[in-house]
Order: sequence, then C-alpha cells, then structure tokens
Amino acid sequence: MNLQTDVCIVGGGPAGALLGYLLAKKGIATLVVERTSGNEREFRGEHINAETEAILKEHHLFGKIEALGLLKMKKVEYLYGRNIVKSITPTGEDHVGIHIPQPHFLRAVSNEAAQFPNYQLLLNTTVTGLVQDEKGHYTGVKAKQNGQEINISSSIVVGTDGRYSTVRKLAGISTMEETHGYDVLWAKIPAPADWEPSTKMVFVNGHQLALFTQTGGMIQIGWNIEEGTFASLRKQPLEPFLEPLLTSFPELESTVREHIQTWKNFVCLKVFSSKAETWAKDGLVILGDAAHTMTPTAAIGINCAIKDAYVLAPILEQALLDSDFSETRLKEFEIARRAEIEQQQEMQFEKEESFKDNFLEVIGR
Ligand SMILES: Cc1cc2nc3c(=O)[nH]c(=O)nc-3n(C[C@H](O)[C@H](O)[C@H](O)COP(=O)(O)OP(=O)(O)OC[C@H]3O[C@@H](n4cnc5c(N)ncnc54)[C@H](O)[C@@H]3O)c2cc1C
Repeated sequence: MNLQTDVCIVGGGPAGALLGYLLAKKGIATLVVERTSGNEREFRGEHINAETEAILKEHHLFGKIEALGLLKMKKVEYLYGRNIVKSITPTGEDHVGIHIPQPHFLRAVSNEAAQFPNYQLLLNTTVTGLVQDEKGHYTGVKAKQNGQEINISSSIVVGTDGRYSTVRKLAGISTMEETHGYDVLWAKIPAPADWEPSTKMVFVNGHQLALFTQTGGMIQIGWNIEEGTFASLRKQPLEPFLEPLLTSFPELESTVREHIQTWKNFVCLKVFSSKAETWAKDGLVILGDAAHTMTPTAAIGINCAIKDAYVLAPILEQALLDSDFSETRLKEFEIARRAEIEQQQEMQFEKEESFKDNFLEVIGR
C-alpha cells in the first residue's frame, strides 16, 4: 500500500497526538502512525501542570478530556513514617496538578482530530524504515501493519516515538543517556473512599516512595529503588519491601494485601534522561521523549512533550507554506525548546539530590 501526506508523525503518544491535531486543524494533510491499538498505556506520565492545562484550554481540548475523566490534586504531602513533615496546598488556584489518564488524553485529542478529513491515524502499524531522496533528505517512512508493508511519502517526517525512538536511530542521531542512580517500581491499588486527591512522598531508607491519587479511584504507587536492583530484589520476600508503605499508611493494609501479592504486580521503569545530539535533519524532526527523555521526577515528561508539540506546530505550518523542509528551518524548533528542556533536566537532578532536604527537621543533616 502507498500513502501520501504532508506530515507523517511516527508515534501516537501525547506529543504525536497533539501535534497531529494541531496540524490537522490548520488544514495540513497529517498521518499519525501508532504501533499499538492505542489502549496499552498503563504506567505513564499522567500529571499535567498549569502550562499544559492552559494549552489544552486554548485549543478547547480540556473540556473534552474532562468529560472522559480527570482529577485535580488538592495537596502534596511529605511523610516520615506516619508523620506529615510538610504539606503544600494550592495558593490562589484550586489544585496542585491534574491527573489525566493518558488513554483519556489520547482518545479526546484523536477524536477531535478525526473530524478533519485531512487527518489519518493508523493504529497497530509500526514504522520500520525511513526513506531518503538522492540528496539524503527524508521523504517518508516504511511501515508494517499485520505483516503488510506500507510506504508513506511525506514532506516532513516527525519522530514522536518515545524514549527508544526508531526514527532517531534510523536517522543516525546519537543520544547521550545519563542514569540517575535509581529505577522506579510502579503498582496500582484502589483508593479508600475517603482518600483525598493528593501526592504523598515518603522518605524510606534514603529513597522516595510516592503515592499519586488517580482518576477512577486508584492510587499509583512508585518506589524508587537502587538502579538495576529489581532482578535481585524480586528474589527476596516481598513483605519487608511493603513494610514502610504499610507503616506510613496502615489504612491501605487490606487493599495492598489484595492487590500486591507477588513481585509480578510491579512494573519496573528503567530511569534515565537523554539528550539527542540534534532534533532536526533535512525533512525530519524529533520531539518529546524521542529527543529528550525525562525522569519521573516532578512528573514533567508529558508536559514537556505537549509543549514541544505546541511550539513545533506553527513552525511546521510555516515550513510547509514556504516549502522549506531543510534542517536549518526545522532547527528553529530545537532553538526554541532545547535550553528550557535542559534546564528542566538539571532541575530533575537537583530535586532528586535534595529530596532528603524535605525531611531535615526529622532526620537532621
Ligand atoms: C512505563 C513508563 C512510566 C512513566 N512514568 C512517568 C511518570 O511517572 N511521570 C512522568 O512525568 N513521566 C513518566 N513517563 C514518561 C512519560 O510518559 C513520557 O515523558 C511521555 O509519555 C512522553 O510522550 P511522547 O509522546 O514523547 O512519547 P511516548 O508517550 O513514549 O509515546 C511514544 C509512542 O510512539 C509509539 N511508537 C514507538 N515506536 C514506534 C514505531 N516504530 N512505530 C509506530 N509507533 C511507535 C509508542 O507505542 C507510543 O505510543 C513514563 C514513561 C514510561 C514508559
């Protein structure tokens, strides 16, 4: 099968979905290629900040997502054992972040995009190759859907295919990865009926244990563990690992016992941050986790990806009007975004190193 479009977006996560919508709204022929069925996103960055909220409101997407379900966080608490040592409640605004399940975000945005006849979403389709012309400019992709090959020609190829980006690798863009000394084990349990929407951070043996209330009455729990230790940890009994959680939140005892019975109930996120050497080549641009993987600290991964799409959309629109798909033109996006992203990556390192400072009053220096 052969397809043609102005912009081919590889990856229908937050960055790809929003960019697809913004371009389609401008009348640009846009094709989003997503390798999954669109529903397989159980553990992902799902907390949005005020800047993302404003972007979604500007484009009348917030109300559509709200109709599917979201949850405003009422406070952030820091606990040492059972004691709350610090509490942050909103000043002026009515929340400290909003939980939006990625499936709700993706469904709302792609439903809106689907109104435009110039928009197409190919699910269960995996990009396996890039196409270049004789000058080396990128002019499309090769993809597979149910074993069938699809050739897609496009003026611009966009890589929004996440932390292990195929587009980035195929375009020969190297990336510098930095580990942060920890990985995260995620698990989900139902929240007690009277659990206030909040983020709770606990200091456990020098590491962070975080509980995030979620839309739909769930709590997502993230244990920071020493980097690369999950394989050895899972050979040990589970009980001592759960003990600090149950000490801080005895009210969760029965639900934890019911829903976390073996190490198989955890998902391990390998934590690293990365910086791609360039975000643009002739006819190709990368953004979101593909360009700069973030760590879970401060839950900014999805926010960075969404802002990338928001900043890139008008640049691509103008590039198409001018028929200029050169690296120099597409680099405008990197120039607009790289400094802020790198600052945020620095902030993540600093926050991780200073996590214990939130508890100085109880643990001392
Ligand atoms: C398990 C996990 C847990 C996370 N937890 C947190 C957290 O707690 N807090 C936080 O802030 N951030 C977290 N993140 C990061 C956050 O989810 C990302 O920063 C955010 O989703 C980035 O959006 P994106 O659109 O750039 O990439 P992604 O959301 O990764 O989307 C990429 C999309 O591309 C698709 N794709 C990949 N390869 C191909 C291909 N070859 N062809 C077609 N499609 C392809 C994928 O299926 C995916 O849908 C987590 C990430 C993961 C993976």
